[in-house]
Amino acid sequence: MKYAIIADIHGNLEAFQTVLEDIKTQNVNQIVCLGDVVGYNANPKECLQIVRDLNIPCVKGNHDEYCSSEEALEGFNPHAAEAVYWTRNQLTTEDRQWLRDLKYSRMVGNFTIVHATLDAPQRWGYVFDKLAAAASFPYQNTQVCFFGHTHVPVAFMRDSVVRGGTYSKFKIDVSKKYFVNVGAVGQPRDNNPKSAYVVFDVDAGTIELRRLDYDIPTTQEKIRAAGLPERLAERLEFGR
Ligand code: ZN
Repeated sequence: MKYAIIADIHGNLEAFQTVLEDIKTQNVNQIVCLGDVVGYNANPKECLQIVRDLNIPCVKGNHDEYCSSEEALEGFNPHAAEAVYWTRNQLTTEDRQWLRDLKYSRMVGNFTIVHATLDAPQRWGYVFDKLAAAASFPYQNTQVCFFGHTHVPVAFMRDSVVRGGTYSKFKIDVSKKYFVNVGAVGQPRDNNPKSAYVVFDVDAGTIELRRLDYDIPTTQEKIRAAGLPERLAERLEFGR
């Protein structure tokens, strides 16, 4: 069994389509999504429609939550808030209900998926370091768990201690647990503008990070045409 694990699409249709084309070349049996289908970029509705049409198992991200709620946003970065209000207006009642119905974490096959952390998924904590990963591991009942939210691909491993670092492809060791960030499809933030996703080959026991060039200028044009903050267009070409 082979899975493609995608996260943080964030309404970036060009990146999403590029990733889907690459997935077709990988003999993947199933695509799985770690949330934040919407928010930031200009095609939230189109991206959401693809996820629904392809019946992709998905968990809820913080932007999925904010964009499907009616509540005022407090303590938000102004660019993020502006994008949330804009996105709310693009989505139908059915779109918002679909997002609201997503679970915070779930199992797919023999692994777990979550947007942020397993210790408190609804609090949207960021796992950048070993300390934060160590807080999540006790709640992980499967050998492998995939997460998103930081938009920075990194793999944490626990045996007697927790270790972590960047990766491109590695083989899993059955005596260890893994908490793996797959990077972002639609807004990479590791100073690499290429779209990111993971291929998890269960039989071979390998996890491979794939990075892809996509049509950034088109995504930027759409952001500008929609009147979304300029910073959201700019950051895509720097991957931050
Ligand atoms: Zn995100």
